Amino acid sequence: MIPSAFDYVAPESLDETIAALREGGEDAKLLAGGHSLLPLMKLRLAAPTLVVDLRRVPGLTGIERANGAFRIGAMATHHQVATGGLGLASAAAARIADQQVRNRGTIGGSLAHGDTAADMPAVLLACEGEVMVRGSGGERTIGASDLFQDYLTTAIGPDEVLTEVRLPSMDGYGFAYQKFNRRTEDWAMVGVCALVKKAGDGSCEDVRIGLTHMGSTPRRASAAEQALRGQGLDRDSIGRAAEQAAEGTDPPSDLNATPDYKRHLARVLTRRALEEAASP
Ligand SMILES: Cc1cc2nc3c(=O)[nH]c(=O)nc-3n(C[C@H](O)[C@H](O)[C@H](O)COP(=O)(O)OP(=O)(O)OC[C@H]3O[C@@H](n4cnc5c(N)ncnc54)[C@H](O)[C@@H]3O)c2cc1C
Repeated sequence: MIPSAFDYVAPESLDETIAALREGGEDAKLLAGGHSLLPLMKLRLAAPTLVVDLRRVPGLTGIERANGAFRIGAMATHHQVATGGLGLASAAAARIADQQVRNRGTIGGSLAHGDTAADMPAVLLACEGEVMVRGSGGERTIGASDLFQDYLTTAIGPDEVLTEVRLPSMDGYGFAYQKFNRRTEDWAMVGVCALVKKAGDGSCEDVRIGLTHMGSTPRRASAAEQALRGQGLDRDSIGRAAEQAAEGTDPPSDLNATPDYKRHLARVLTRRALEEAASP
């Protein structure tokens, strides 16, 4: 329960942060809320020799809305996202762990950590959002579909800092986040986020479904989306589409659930999420 020895710095600018990461190389790690990194360090599953704290770096906080998108600073906490009126993102953030974790954990840390059981990655994917990162090579944008590469592996380089999350505001879409766990504060056995846009005649103009913990990375339930697009939003159409929610997924087995049980959960939760998102 005691981490191995490490050096600690708390830079006061992004440039200093990037320089510290560059000097520290692969053994340097950024610290945001610490709610994923510190447990790993205490278990000695991570042993960085340099920890670079982001808390004094200006410009990484705040939530703004501009040009049909939310700009969320990487250091915005789960609590700030949950209470920020951000639609689906707020609904999902409100289901993360307990209040203590939500007070410290950050959206940037969660997305950079790339845990398939975390709630925010599937939201970024469903909204087709993007993250801004800055490193020694300058600034670049990474779209959600390119960000998550494998279990705990993202496209963010070792000397890059995730600075900002951009989420389309998804105006006109109904939304819902369904998460299944045994205790409220637990990680998702499976989570499903749904966004539904109705056409003038009440049929489904567009639908997005993001899946949490159904593979080594968050997934889109593309077959279910395709089955519902252009169809009515009645119980039967939604039920038929939801039956395809687990297609193409590869859920990991764990202490709580077998892959088959997770596929079952994905179908049930997708039906519930779609019904909620499509309700008037
Ligand atoms: C008891 C408990 C229960 C939890 N339950 C849930 C849950 O139900 N759902 C859920 O989604 N999460 C859950 N979490 C995780 C929590 O949401 C974490 O806050 C989150 O995963 C990581 O955010 P952080 O700010 O704490 O990041 P940190 O732990 O500080 O960092 C995590 C990783 O991301 C890197 N990193 C951090 N910020 C940046 C950045 N700006 N740019 C680049 N890299 C960065 C770090 O170097 C590190 O590798 C739980 C955590 C705990 C302790």
